[in-house]
Amino acid sequence: MPQFRAVFDTVAAYKAGQAVVGPDGRSYKLSSNESPEPPLPSVVRAIAEAATQIHRYPDPAALRLVEALSARYGVPADHIALGAGSVTVAQQLFETVGEPGAEVIYAWRSFEAYPLLADLSGVTSVRVPLKDETHDLDAMADAITPNTRMILVCNPNNPTGTVNRAGELKRFLDRVPENILVILDEAYREYVRDEDVPDGLTIYRDRPNVAVLRTFSKAYGLAGLRVGYLIGQEPVAGAVRKAMMPFAINHLAQAAAVASLQAEEELLARVETVVAERARVRDALVAQGWLVPQSEANFVWLRLAGDTPAFAEVCAAAGVAVRPFGNEGARVSIGDREANDAFLAAAAAFRSR
Ligand SMILES: *Cc1c(COP(=O)(O)O)cnc(C)c1O
Repeated sequence: MPQFRAVFDTVAAYKAGQAVVGPDGRSYKLSSNESPEPPLPSVVRAIAEAATQIHRYPDPAALRLVEALSARYGVPADHIALGAGSVTVAQQLFETVGEPGAEVIYAWRSFEAYPLLADLSGVTSVRVPLKDETHDLDAMADAITPNTRMILVCNPNNPTGTVNRAGELKRFLDRVPENILVILDEAYREYVRDEDVPDGLTIYRDRPNVAVLRTFSKAYGLAGLRVGYLIGQEPVAGAVRKAMMPFAINHLAQAAAVASLQAEEELLARVETVVAERARVRDALVAQGWLVPQSEANFVWLRLAGDTPAFAEVCAAAGVAVRPFGNEGARVSIGDREANDAFLAAAAAFRSR
């Protein structure tokens, strides 16, 4: 029997959101925070054109995409690092800090990929419980030790949808020593409507130890193609670029991401629809009697505790896939109107069962 690292005895495999089919054949996938709409025709065309070149390796630096991002956000190209989805960029980040004994702080519950990446990289996870379903930034700063190398702040937080606002973030960042990397995971930035939530891109310019993670998987609708990026000052972005596997961003993904930036107006109009549906879904849930944290992302969170598995089953029986987390709660993505109505009907049925 080959000998594996001890961590492989305990590491939890990443559980992706499932799809389910109801008895009448209807299927609503609200388990992975995906865009409810299919790719734009212009993006499909760009992928089809790029397909004629896939006998070649892709551009290893993905220069067209880096230039498009640089122009879009007004940041120097050397402040950008790419990866095959922002989960992979996060893995590259763990590679940059993950020496034995290193500690990485993150809130819990937060994005389910963090513990997996921490375990795989060999760092020690330091989990700080949420307070009122929100990152407890004071407690996270208190958790800093001489071994801390990185702190992940998921804003808005997956799976609770809650946010940390400008004042508390500034106070927190002022407390973090400059040799500790702070990553603002802004996978859901495009869905934020609370004006007190700062855009990480306005923060990192004055703080060399802060960098921002973004993705094409959610608002830009490219979850299936895997493109994410980091924006940070050159030492951070440069280290993350070094940790990237060669050719990680494939040719089709590069073309689709560039085309998506060109079609941004159409995509952000779709986001607006999701934001409106988010308010409608939350209002309806509250009217049903649920406690629902205000969400600034494309999902809502129900802390169901021991009822979580039963709730997921009731939803599944109606053809609605939600994302249950043990005996903690369920995260439900905002889909199109029909899917959201199917979910609301299942939630009402659960309450009156
Ligand atoms: C969905 C999500 C991502 C994006 O993952 P990709 O690998 O880019 O698909 C990153 N961070 C959080 C918190 C997420 O929820």
